Amino acid sequence: MEKIIEGVYFIPGQDGLIPDAHVYLLGLPSSRDLTLIDVGVIGKGQKKIDLLKKHGIEPGDIKRIILTHAHMDHIGCINEVLKETQAELWMHVKEADLLEQGQELIVFGQEMIKEMCHNHYNIKPGDYTLTFDKKLEGNEYLEIGGMIWEVLHVPGHSLGSLALYNPVNKILIAGDVVYADYSIGRFDFFGSSAQELKSTLQSLSSLDVNILLPGHNQIMMDVPRGYLRETAKRWEPFLRG
Ligand SMILES: [Zn+2]
Ligand SMILES: [Zn+2]
Repeated sequence: MEKIIEGVYFIPGQDGLIPDAHVYLLGLPSSRDLTLIDVGVIGKGQKKIDLLKKHGIEPGDIKRIILTHAHMDHIGCINEVLKETQAELWMHVKEADLLEQGQELIVFGQEMIKEMCHNHYNIKPGDYTLTFDKKLEGNEYLEIGGMIWEVLHVPGHSLGSLALYNPVNKILIAGDVVYADYSIGRFDFFGSSAQELKSTLQSLSSLDVNILLPGHNQIMMDVPRGYLRETAKRWEPFLRG
């Protein structure tokens, strides 16, 4: 686990057959009000809990898990982590509702991936029928763990993708919307929309971002000025709906 700044910690994903999303831990340790952003792929939950414990984090201090979106590489080990933490579960309403209804395509993105995961990981129908404690819509200001985070609804990669923005330290936790190296999330899954991703990238362009914490690959500690605007511009020709 790596400290980004006081109150923001990074657990890098460990990719296997399927990628494993990065997990971020938010909250000043003294607050005992900690938040996990995503949990990662199936089978990696205990490892992450053990890692947190090794760093002196009590699982009971993790008060909530906010999921950036419902893809397998981000929520796969949710049941493993919930069992250890009793944390609340928060997500954007559009994906929370589908998960509550047992819609699995929102988890796997494609029928083929769904089949593969069911076979490989012995997933049972209903394993991802979750219940949510809070459904976010975007534009909320969360005062959690002694910090302020603005919730942004950033659809395109998925229906209810969420990003979190900390205006004090200019940190953007971006899920699978935008990454380092001017790359962006896939837009060919169930619930994806090229047109929405284009609008999302345009609206993110106006944010002042110093630290970019994406769901995969490198994190960016010193984001060049105009990076998000440039990313939106480069992808615009490919995002005509
Ligand atoms: Zn994704
Ligand atoms: Zn992902």
